[in-house]
Amino acid sequence: MLDATAPSRRAVLLAVLRAAVAAVAAVATAAPVSGGKVLATEPDAVAPPPPGPVPVRVPYQGLLENEGHAYQSWGLTHETRPAVYVEPISYADVQAVVVDPIRFPSPVSPVGSMLSVTRTVVNDGGTLLCTLKLNEILGVETDAAGRSVVRVQAGCRLKKLHLWLQSRGLEIPYQAEIGDATVGSMAAGDTKDSSLEGPGYFSAGVVAVTYVDEQGTLVTLSDLVDDKALAEFKCSYGLSGIIVECLVEVLSAMLCRSRFSVVTEESPQALAAAIRRMHDECDALFVHVALESLRGVCDQRFSAGPGVMTPAASQPVFDEIRRSRRLSIQHGLAPKPTVKPPPLSNGIVYSRADMVDEYWRPKGDEPRLDFQYYEHDLTNLDRVIEESYAFTRQFSKEHGFAPHAWAIYFVRRLPATKKPHGLYSGGPGISVSFDPVFSNPVDPLWQQFAKAYNQVAIHSLGGRASPIQTQWLTPADLTIPRQLARDRFTTKYYAQFLG
Ligand SMILES: Cc1cc2nc3c(=O)[nH]c(=O)nc-3n(C[C@H](O)[C@H](O)[C@H](O)COP(=O)(O)OP(=O)(O)OC[C@H]3O[C@@H](n4cnc5c(N)ncnc54)[C@H](O)[C@@H]3O)c2cc1C
Repeated sequence: MLDATAPSRRAVLLAVLRAAVAAVAAVATAAPVSGGKVLATEPDAVAPPPPGPVPVRVPYQGLLENEGHAYQSWGLTHETRPAVYVEPISYADVQAVVVDPIRFPSPVSPVGSMLSVTRTVVNDGGTLLCTLKLNEILGVETDAAGRSVVRVQAGCRLKKLHLWLQSRGLEIPYQAEIGDATVGSMAAGDTKDSSLEGPGYFSAGVVAVTYVDEQGTLVTLSDLVDDKALAEFKCSYGLSGIIVECLVEVLSAMLCRSRFSVVTEESPQALAAAIRRMHDECDALFVHVALESLRGVCDQRFSAGPGVMTPAASQPVFDEIRRSRRLSIQHGLAPKPTVKPPPLSNGIVYSRADMVDEYWRPKGDEPRLDFQYYEHDLTNLDRVIEESYAFTRQFSKEHGFAPHAWAIYFVRRLPATKKPHGLYSGGPGISVSFDPVFSNPVDPLWQQFAKAYNQVAIHSLGGRASPIQTQWLTPADLTIPRQLARDRFTTKYYAQFLG
């Protein structure tokens, strides 16, 4: 943690780190090479020692594994074999990793829970840095603008943060169902939620970040002092630096009332009109659509006033809904004809934080969530549904395959100065997602569908895609501004999108 009493220690550490960078650069010239690649090695193994001053060894104390193990994403779709895998236990550990390209070969890429569905977590031959042990919640503060903010480390999982805030009568408005995702990943990456308040993506609430830059320096950016730089950084996916700590704005906790209903329409146009009407009626709308049958299960959310915990009066129905939703998400919305769905309650009141869940790591033969994310402007919803319907019907006719459902989230966009790149960067307005969902990430027909649908969603419908939530992207589908990326942090996966 950076604290007010630390400057002298920090200055000492920085001096040590700078000396280490110089020493490491000198050592690099004498490093053993194989096939043109610098080998991962302990500094002690590097011989002969470079002339000049004795290199300063920056101590690294966290877990280090360099025995060639493979690491897999949650859905078991992507595997990576980094030269070194590290789990830092202090910010100094992260700095020690970044400044030492001999012991920790480039690129250094951060990950949290590795839940992402794309190849964002792949870093073969580099250094995979997992933040999960930097997971403290350091307290609530009032910042210079008078806002209440929670100071939280990058590896903290969202469910842990929600529980901690609930116990203090507080919340963050972003309360998507995923409890395992980490703060650092969400602050620099893409997210979506149909939130009662706020825009509906996590990074919108992040008012300051502390990160380790490519020199190994701890840098803090706050929207009060460095608004533009912070906004850019929050679009960087870890390519500008590794987040170790965030300040996230918090509000008094409030309850939500959900009205669940099912709509079945005769045409895609009528379905789009029904969804728009439902959206206008409530504070936040979330819909699952079975496209082929033009059937939508709708969750219209309304603010239900102040409140922290789900009222006892809502039980046991609420818990039944929560458990059923968790299983359904875990299993990628695979239909379960033998399981009776919970009653579609018409007005249940609950804490949205109580609906956030944890998901077990599935085995290869288990149904498990996989999806593709696309952002569209709400004004385009009719066309999106019509063309997606036509595409899905045609694909189903030819191949006998269709996704289980499509998830529709609504996100309120901020001025482009607050979100200059990537998702939600189109200036004020409302974005809507239309995301196909399936239960077997490695099913060849699902992959074929997803690749072909990328063309429709991105190139025909003008949707925006995400490098951490949309799979099978090509450089023609996505551009990440080159100025956001530093060589030390840029994996092969990300290099293809820079422009
Ligand atoms: C069951 C399930 C449900 C989901 N539900 C939702 C949902 O409702 N809403 C939603 O938005 N998403 C959802 N997702 C997607 C998932 O939450 C996001 O992809 C999220 O970013 C994953 O967090 P993570 O900690 O696992 O990130 P990881 O997959 O570990 O990392 C993703 C990327 O984030 C960046 N990153 C990670 N840590 C840092 C850091 N410290 N500093 C800088 N950059 C960093 C890197 O680019 C990294 O490759 C769901 C996924 C699953 C599997």
